Amino acid sequence: MAACHRLAAEGLLIGTAGNVSIREGDRVAVTATGAVLGELTADQVVEVDLDGNQVGGSLVPTSEVYLHLSLYQKYDVAAVVHTHAPVSTAASISIGEIPVVHYQQLLLGGTIRVAPYATFGSPELATRVVAALEGRAAALMANHGSIAIGASLDKAVENALLLEWLCTVYRDALAMGRPATLTRKQQEDVVAAAIARSYGSVQEAGQEKGESE
Ligand SMILES: [Zn+2]
Repeated sequence: MAACHRLAAEGLLIGTAGNVSIREGDRVAVTATGAVLGELTADQVVEVDLDGNQVGGSLVPTSEVYLHLSLYQKYDVAAVVHTHAPVSTAASISIGEIPVVHYQQLLLGGTIRVAPYATFGSPELATRVVAALEGRAAALMANHGSIAIGASLDKAVENALLLEWLCTVYRDALAMGRPATLTRKQQEDVVAAAIARSYGSVQEAGQEKGESE
């Protein structure tokens, strides 16, 4: 619930659009269809097994439940966040992909793909989104919105927020001129530097491994 409230507070969720799920073993807790995620309550969370059979909760699961289950079947992740965040959605309508334009983007796996359009809730959409997420933590869904996955719910939320930030930066960069992209070598150097510094993990000063900048 806290995750949904945070996404809404950050402006990623508008009304009933978007859905979130968490997997624990062979059970998936997913938001109910029609729920206003920014005001989500415990009874608006539905539990299903990996085949989509409802095992908990009285409401109907999100229409994108098939998409969430397809992702859990293919990838070893613990959470899925799908939004209609405004800039991500605009990007999904207007561009074919986001090349690597910022080193932080590598946290999402590199180039951001756009899964070709298919009707919401359809198996075709699920198949296309699963493909777009190969080796990635986030992707866009053409003329629809964004999708993010993660090893935890916090991580998936963070990835959805990072994608929305990236789409905003890329939009502004396009407006200013021709965005430069990072070369393969520059990307490899970022990965090497991140591994050396354990980028993204909070380190206390004086910690054995830690070097404070
Ligand atoms: Zn949607």
